Amino acid sequence: MSGLSNIIYKKRVKEAMSVAKYIFVTGGVVSSLGKGIASASIGKLLESTGLKITLIKCDPYINVDPGTMNPFQHGEVYVTDDGAETDLDLGHYERFTNAKLTKENNITTGKIYYSVISKERKGDYLGKTVQIIPHITDEIKHSIKKVANRKNIDVVIVEIGGTVGDIESRPFLEAIRQLRLEVGRENAVNIHVTLVPYIKAAGEVKTKPTQHSVGTLREIGIMPDVILCRSEKHLTMQAKEKIALFCNVDKEAVISAVDVDTIYEVPICLYKEGLNGILARLLKLRCRGRNLTRWQKTVLDKIKNPVNAVTVAVVGKYIILQDAYKSIYEALTHAAIANNTRLLIKRVDSEDIEKYGSHVYLNDVDAILIPGGFGKRGIEGKIEAVRYAREKEIPFFGICLGMQIAAIEFARNICGLKKANSTEFNSKTPYPVISLLEEQRGVKAKGATMRLGKYSCRLRKDTKSIKAYGRKVVSERHRHRYEFNNRYRNIFEKNGLIAAGIYPNSDLVEIVELANHPWYIACQSHPEFKSKPDIAHPLFKSFIRAALKNR
Ligand code: GLN
Repeated sequence: MSGLSNIIYKKRVKEAMSVAKYIFVTGGVVSSLGKGIASASIGKLLESTGLKITLIKCDPYINVDPGTMNPFQHGEVYVTDDGAETDLDLGHYERFTNAKLTKENNITTGKIYYSVISKERKGDYLGKTVQIIPHITDEIKHSIKKVANRKNIDVVIVEIGGTVGDIESRPFLEAIRQLRLEVGRENAVNIHVTLVPYIKAAGEVKTKPTQHSVGTLREIGIMPDVILCRSEKHLTMQAKEKIALFCNVDKEAVISAVDVDTIYEVPICLYKEGLNGILARLLKLRCRGRNLTRWQKTVLDKIKNPVNAVTVAVVGKYIILQDAYKSIYEALTHAAIANNTRLLIKRVDSEDIEKYGSHVYLNDVDAILIPGGFGKRGIEGKIEAVRYAREKEIPFFGICLGMQIAAIEFARNICGLKKANSTEFNSKTPYPVISLLEEQRGVKAKGATMRLGKYSCRLRKDTKSIKAYGRKVVSERHRHRYEFNNRYRNIFEKNGLIAAGIYPNSDLVEIVELANHPWYIACQSHPEFKSKPDIAHPLFKSFIRAALKNR
């Protein structure tokens, strides 16, 4: 065997010997069924039995990543430690489980084609016609196996975005069909998440859409082993039997996933339906006990039995969208859990503040948060909201754009730098207190070119930030092009807005805080991406504590 084919042979053997088991999650009938939360919950369930898991999201769109998409198209862009701009389902995966996700955990059609076309240009397929099958499907399988082959992974959960029957997701479905054959039927299962609607007039649930959706799956050679039925009401045994009969699965494997008050209850619901036992049996998993008690105690019991209540205003411009500030809402929820309090989020459109004034929307809230964002629209309303929080001594948390807004407000209203702005919104401002990062000058391409991913931050002593974190050096994730302009640091500090956190390698201001204010912290990073329901992020936790004090 030649050297090269020997290497390829060994690689193939290694891939074939991969010990990880696969769970493929597909969706049927309609979108927005909560496949991401279902996948994350399955991950949690398996982790609680001592297994090491990871998760992959396959997105059928042609964008290489969601980083260039508008929140109306895609919702939040979730950022991983390694700086990948990914689908928001990865946020659920990280919040529910301990899986460490990287850019490899989000596969898109764009990425797959990009890679195949680059290979074609290099001549890797010389002489061949490059086709969806086998080249695209092979590339998908290779990308999935690369993650599955990571050290010590017992189970990899692969969620296929979109709904079965869509043209876009066909290559992914074909790839997972082939992959199951390759790894052996007993090493993979297919879970199909469907909708079982309750028809009020008939007073019963309807299984037909599920039957059709499973039929479509079978047409392309995929037989589900488990059907996860999303429904308003618990499925009766009769309904389960019907689905089992028509969809060719065991009746125990028809799982009723009803709507719940909090998404963090889903792992417990799936456990009660016996899903972990079914998966263990089908995949011959060596589970080591089960422990969801901590989750129940530290998360669910606290959500259900709050002692206090706070209202936090989130002032943004994508307020009507459920998903635009997903991680922010979740991180606030985690912090409320940690403070034994009920949380009411008041979503305020900054353009409404521009029209009617801050007091109309903010006079009844306990704290104000301004999340990240891009572009000029709604900026002046956000500046007004910060002024309101500062003057009325309402706890204020600025995140990324929220920090930049805080700097603009402080410059204009305290430092006397009228017309101060960020060069993102006015390139001719006389006082560019926020300006383009040095490394961004000359960057023209928009995809994956921001300052992305984790960077360390050294905290200044005697600040609220260091007190909240309880550590001197922290690491947070970033996604921005503009930055606090150090030329203005002195004048800010003289007036009381201090640099509480610095990125040591290039002296970038990462956190500012106001000394003479009950709680006013604004950071350039996105701490919301690292918060978990049972381990609230320290800044969010401290912010909600301050909100409680302010009631
Ligand atoms: N638009 C700002 C920047 O690019 C803030 C980005 C953000 O909030 N994620 O720096």
